[in-house]
Amino acid sequence: PVVTRFAPSPTGSLHIGGARTALFNWLFARGRGGKFLLRIEDTDRSRSTPENTAEILAGLTWLGIDWDGEPISQFERAPRHAEVARELLASGKAYKCFSTTEEIEAFREQARAEGKSTLFRSPWRDVPESEHPDLPFVIRIKAPQDGAQTITDQVQGEVTIGNDQMDDMVMLRSDGTPVYMLAVVVDDHDMGVTHVIRGDDHLTNAFRQKMIYDAMGWDFPVMAHIPLIFGPDGKKLSKRHGATAAAEYQAMGYPAAGMRNYLTRLGWSHGDAEFFTDAEARAWFDLEGIGKSPARFDTKKLEHLCGMHIARSDDADLVAQIKGYLAKIGAAPLTDAQADGLLRAMYTLKERAKTFPELLEKAHFVLTQRPIVPDEKAAAALDTVSRGILNELTQLLPDVSWERDTLETLVAEVAEKHGTKLGKIAAPLRTALAGRSVSPSVFDMMLILGRTESTARLAEASS
Ligand code: GLU
Repeated sequence: PVVTRFAPSPTGSLHIGGARTALFNWLFARGRGGKFLLRIEDTDRSRSTPENTAEILAGLTWLGIDWDGEPISQFERAPRHAEVARELLASGKAYKCFSTTEEIEAFREQARAEGKSTLFRSPWRDVPESEHPDLPFVIRIKAPQDGAQTITDQVQGEVTIGNDQMDDMVMLRSDGTPVYMLAVVVDDHDMGVTHVIRGDDHLTNAFRQKMIYDAMGWDFPVMAHIPLIFGPDGKKLSKRHGATAAAEYQAMGYPAAGMRNYLTRLGWSHGDAEFFTDAEARAWFDLEGIGKSPARFDTKKLEHLCGMHIARSDDADLVAQIKGYLAKIGAAPLTDAQADGLLRAMYTLKERAKTFPELLEKAHFVLTQRPIVPDEKAAAALDTVSRGILNELTQLLPDVSWERDTLETLVAEVAEKHGTKLGKIAAPLRTALAGRSVSPSVFDMMLILGRTESTARLAEASS
């Protein structure tokens, strides 16, 4: 069975790159009936905070990425990591090194002066236990010294490095704390991770990690190192390009489904499919579809997909998402009446909105109450002629059957009678009903607001 994991360091919030890594691992596992685990790499005690962890989990939850079991704390597993270091020592795959920092620095300086490799070669590698001093030591792994290592990466292909570039890495520091590289390997092994999908900035680490797997006789997981995300200018995505945190996109009102779809396409493809449902993403996601070159972040494409997802979403589900969005930005929650109005209007609101703020702007007419105070642009649409038409409509509306066809006919007739066209009367009607120049069609608004409310708004605007 497939087991993947996401292993964020809680030294900051969840970024777009991390969110995509999590998503790829999640899709890969979920599409194969596997498990997706979370490991919080909180060994950097000065920079890891519970707040960051909470924010990362909230970001994943927003994106609909769920994990199996409890998140694992890497820091809490330090005793287990140390145990493995001692196992390596006991099996002769590692050794105690008593070289001091000064000695190592001196070694490097001399190597530099002689133009040789500065990789530290410890003189303690083959010294028997009986000749060990009673001094502080680190545990170093015995790296292979000749030949080469090859990793078959599912994205990068075969990658080889010479063992002359591998040093006898420290596994356990002199204070007994494990190094990061050991922690990752032991955790991935103990968690039963079968596939590691992560950023290609970790590719060189993979060689060092393989050394530990080999020394322990453990199976090396399938590796897939994905290219980093670039900005539109072809440089590594950063703050300079705009928002980089998942939470910022949530606060800008992008729907999670659109974000998920976009992030899935960011560096992975399935033929020329752009829009897909979650079920399709799970069924289609594979390692073969991951591109070898960095993907560029494209806000236009994100918005296009978000628009498609909003249009296809269930109305009640959209209302629930909008409530979540308003809470996220600290806005006043919807009243029951507003939520109800939003739900009734959703069939038309969702047609062309790419974000929730856009949708809410169009929804102003159901969120507001009389008296309708038109904004400047909308107010300009009201003149004496249109007030007269609105006034006449006010008289006629109580008796017309409240349906789209009859309302359209009635408005057209009254407009004609006043020497104008339906198109010309739409703007003042919009002002009367919404107080905005952006809204659904006037007939949609009349049907959604109902006879009493629509008539009252027209009466108010015509007086
Ligand atoms: N904690 C590492 C990071 O945030 C991930 C390491 C890994 O995936 O092996 O970059």
